[in-house]
Order: sequence, then C-alpha cells, then structure tokens
Amino acid sequence: LAPEFQAAQPILADLEAAGFEAYFVGGAVRDALLQRPIHDVDIATSAYPAEVKQIFKRTIDTGIQHGTVTVMAHDVAYEVTTFRTESTYQDFRRPDKVTFVRSLKEDLKRRDFTINALAMRHDGEIIDLFDGLKDLHQGMLRAVGDPYARFHEDALRMMRAVRFQAQLAFQLEAQTKTAIAKNHRLLQKIAIERIHSEFIKLMLASNWQTGLATFIETKMSEAVPGFSGQATQLQKLTALAGHLTNECQVWGLFALTLTLNQKDTRQLLRAWKSANQVIDGTERLRQLATDLQTTDIDEAELKWALFSAGQIAVQDTLSVLKLMARITSEQQAEFRQIYDQLPLQSSKALAVNGQDLMTNGIQPGPELGRTLQRLRYAVVVGQLPNNKAALLSTIKK
Ligand code: ATP
Ligand code: MG
Repeated sequence: LAPEFQAAQPILADLEAAGFEAYFVGGAVRDALLQRPIHDVDIATSAYPAEVKQIFKRTIDTGIQHGTVTVMAHDVAYEVTTFRTESTYQDFRRPDKVTFVRSLKEDLKRRDFTINALAMRHDGEIIDLFDGLKDLHQGMLRAVGDPYARFHEDALRMMRAVRFQAQLAFQLEAQTKTAIAKNHRLLQKIAIERIHSEFIKLMLASNWQTGLATFIETKMSEAVPGFSGQATQLQKLTALAGHLTNECQVWGLFALTLTLNQKDTRQLLRAWKSANQVIDGTERLRQLATDLQTTDIDEAELKWALFSAGQIAVQDTLSVLKLMARITSEQQAEFRQIYDQLPLQSSKALAVNGQDLMTNGIQPGPELGRTLQRLRYAVVVGQLPNNKAALLSTIKK
C-alpha cells in the first residue's frame, strides 16, 4: 500500500469500527495502480454525513449537501463522501438531486469511466464492479454504462475523457468516442471555467497531441470559443513534438497557430475567462514571437523586443517557437544568450528612477515616463552605459 493510503488507513478503520463500509476511491486508486504520482486520497463511505461527523473530532463541512465532509488526520485533509446516486440531469451539467445510499455499487455506477470506478479496501484489495482493472491494464478509457446517456447527463465528462487520454496515454474505447462525437454540441451548456480547467490539463499533459486530436475529431473544438471553423489549422498542432509547461505557452501556441493579432488574442482569452496575468503573458509571447520572426529586424530592435517581453515571456516564446519548429535549438540558445547579455533585463534595473529625474528638473507626468523609456532604450541597445551620472548628464543636455 502506498504511504498516502497508509496514512489514511485509520480513517477507514474508524468508519468500519463504527459499523460502516469505507473505501479509497477515484483518481488516487487509479493512479496508484498505474504507478503514477497520487494526488488527493478520496474516501467513500456508507455513513451519512452526520454520522461521519460524529465519528471524527475534527471535520469541516466542505460540501455537506453533496455528502462531502473533510476529515483532518495528522494535519492532512481527506474528503470523505457518502455513497450517493445522482439523478435527473435536466441541463446536461449538474445533477438536480443527490441521494445518499448505503450501496457501494450505486456509488461506483455514477462515476464517469471504468478506471475511475474502482474502490480499494483498507488492506489494498480492489473492488472492481465495472471491469475497470481490465481497462486499466489495456490502457482503455471506457464510460461506465451507456456512454451516450452518461455524456448526455453531464457533458463535462467529454472534456474529462480527452484530458485523461492525454494524461494517461490511454485509448478511447470506440463507443465512448462515438458518443462524444454525437454529443459534442452539449459542451456549449458547460461553464467555460470548467472546460478551461480540463483543456489546460489536457494541453500540459505528456500526450497532449492525442487528446487534442480527439478533441478536434469529435468536433468538441467546434463547441468552444474561438476554435469553431479552425479544425484544419488546429489539426496541424497534433503533429508537433514536445511539451508545454504553462498556460501562457498553451494560449501562445494557439494564438500563433491561428495567426491572431493582439485584439483577437485578448478576445479569445477573455472568452475563455483566463486570468489577466495569463492574458498579459500570452500577449507578450505573441508579440515577441511576431518580432523574432520578422526577417529584417535589426540588432537594436531585436534587443528592445527581448527586453520589452521580459525574462519569462522570452523563455516561453522561445519554447513555443521551438515546439512549432519555427526556430532551431541553436537559434533558441542564441536568442536566449542575447537576452541574458542585455545590459538591462528589467525596467527596475535602470540606474536612474523617476525621483532622480524629478530632482533633475523633469516635471512629473507623461514627459517623465517618456524620458525613462528613452533612457531604457539607450541602455538596452548599448548607446549609453547603465550608470547614473552618465544617464543624468544626457537629460541635462
Ligand atoms: P485527478 O487526478 O485529476 O484528480 P480524478 O479522477 O481524481 O482525477 P476528480 O475530479 O478528483 O478526478 O474526481 C474524483 C472522482 O470522482 C473521479 O475519479 C470519478 O470517479 C468521479 N467524478 C469526477 N467528476 C465526475 C463526473 N463529471 N462524472 C462522473 N464522475 C465523476
Ligand atoms: Mg482527484
């Protein structure tokens, strides 16, 4: 038993001692069997939330209406969720009603994929009611029950399918895939934040190309903002080799692939409800990529473009351009070296600040900002040394 489960064993023991059933469930069981790193250890039990709260000293009502109580054990938080069924999904997303039940089978039945519907006893014995172990060993992602009905109930499961495909390098079982293709439009009913989260997980996974290929092939890409009508362009991405490491790289890749300008990039990211920090980072990446690919860029322009982007965007842009095979590894190293050797790498590192300029007779306001920017440029391109006296002497002239 993995140490993560061993640490949580007392919780199962306490629930069992009180006469209830309790199992490890969900992603942790799947990942342990696949010998992948385990994230959160989730527990399912026949005890109702009020009963769980009576058994443990320290609990938090995390999602009590859904049956989830957080139990603290040695400062680690475990989500203990009562066996439940979900019924009558009227809007293709959240269940209208959650019913607590005493049967493990009922609980496992509502789960999305067979590999996510395994339960593990305190001693490590696996309860496999939907042939999840076979699928796990064959690398197969298969919906529990009738895939069409399951995606119709909750369309987010379609995104989870391609996300798991990308993370686990699993195949999508044929009927499961067909059911996604038939239901792809229902994705429009799902909050973009939830789609976003799954989509980024997909794109940062080691087999993102496969997940993205299914996302396009099943026409899910037609049901999300900004990707409709772009299947041919998007398809090209699936042939690229390499990995992405953050969200700005993901969106930068799409902005460059779809050749978006600044305005359209911002519009795409706003439609996906990305954080402002991500929007800024992506825009820097897109801008620098455009500058670096300008054939007649001179040395000063190149240095200024690298400086303006800043260290993180320089790194991200070079990674993405390399991934897209628009630059070679040698060029990536060269650009990186030019940036590293700039006399100035961030605005703050300029030897004079606004205060210095004001003491030397420049009025606060736009003129001050312009002067600072002019000095930065002169230092970055090597016209002036980054030295206070030298810089102040030029503004006096
Ligand atoms: P991760 O490693 O990303 O946490 P996970 O499988 O644990 O993957 P969670 O979102 O943490 O995913 O959900 C825990 C479990 O709850 C899943 O393994 C699955 O059994 C069930 N589950 C989660 N979301 C759904 C859903 N939309 N429909 C059906 N079952 C779900
Ligand atoms: Mg999980």
